[in-house]
Amino acid sequence: MKAILVLNACANDYRIQSQFLAGFLQQRTKGVEADTAVVFHTQEADRAELLSSVPAKEAILICLTKARTETMLNQLEKLGFEQTDRVYLFAGNCFGSELAVRMGQRCGGTFLTGVDTVQCTKEGITVTKSVYSGHMEAEFALKRAPYCLSVSRSSAEPVMQKGPTAEILEEWTAREDTENDFSEDYTLIPGNEEKNLETAPFLLAAGSGAKNKEGIEAMAQAAEKMGAEFGVSRPVAMSAWAPMSCLIGVSGAMIKPEICIAAGVSGAPAFYAGIEKSGFIVSVNSDPRAPIHRKSDIAIVDDWHTVLKHLSDQFPKSL
Ligand SMILES: Cc1cc2nc3c(=O)[nH]c(=O)nc-3n(C[C@H](O)[C@H](O)[C@H](O)COP(=O)(O)OP(=O)(O)OC[C@H]3O[C@@H](n4cnc5c(N)ncnc54)[C@H](O)[C@@H]3O)c2cc1C
Repeated sequence: MKAILVLNACANDYRIQSQFLAGFLQQRTKGVEADTAVVFHTQEADRAELLSSVPAKEAILICLTKARTETMLNQLEKLGFEQTDRVYLFAGNCFGSELAVRMGQRCGGTFLTGVDTVQCTKEGITVTKSVYSGHMEAEFALKRAPYCLSVSRSSAEPVMQKGPTAEILEEWTAREDTENDFSEDYTLIPGNEEKNLETAPFLLAAGSGAKNKEGIEAMAQAAEKMGAEFGVSRPVAMSAWAPMSCLIGVSGAMIKPEICIAAGVSGAPAFYAGIEKSGFIVSVNSDPRAPIHRKSDIAIVDDWHTVLKHLSDQFPKSL
């Protein structure tokens, strides 16, 4: 199947995008051939340098006055590629993922972000990506073209382009499309995805005994007050009361803090496996028969509201 690579040379990681896409094509795809790359760039870009980095035979160069995703999408749509049986591979950065999702939605195809492998089949393509903080691999059978995929940066080794410089298939300057654009400008705000639960010395793990999102927020505040990192059980993350990056257990982070307070968790094996290497476990659960009490160093049979309030008042940022 033919692949169209989409690269954003308006961003300063253009070389890295090209090298990761080249590595991905070589190491992580089967039956996929990149014949064309669409390269968005600004007027100041060095065209020779752009072309020497492209991991495809031909390139379409589109000059933009501003790196707006709306303008990029309109240009991709004008190319008319979406009518054919193609896979679009977008770089694994925030631009690439946004473009993959919006392009797939706009042209009635399918989309997936952060993919690790792509294999062509008779019915369509099979794609894998890692899920649950990298503890599991999920396989997706995509059957509606065009397939719009952004690639995971950790899936392949980057490869420097050594082949012949790509030929220019077409090039033009895009008229800036502000009419339907809802965005004025971009500022990247770092998310809280980069949690480092695995190295935290002190952690509060909250479970569905919190009852709702407000309960989880109150527990997170208590953790903050005590100077503890904050993690959650799977039902809490699956209810979107906390981000998936907070998930503890076999599907999430396996932690080993000096002290772990497990509040409102029952202590199911899949959760407990994630905290069992902790130096000292304090369980807080209103049910005296909760399994977590038998597996902890100190068991407090009480309502978490009372206990966490007391602990955070008595020991603010104590460790
Ligand atoms: C393949 C697979 C993978 C899984 N991976 C994970 C994983 O990585 N992590 C994970 O957590 N789970 C995982 N699970 C789910 C796991 O089996 C349990 O369902 C889950 O851990 C239960 O979460 P919980 O303890 O928050 O909820 P519950 O089991 O519902 O426990 C809530 C507890 O809160 C207590 N409680 C209620 N109100 C209060 C109160 N006011 N004060 C104090 N205590 C209160 C209750 O007594 C109860 O014991 C996995 C399951 C499967 C099948």
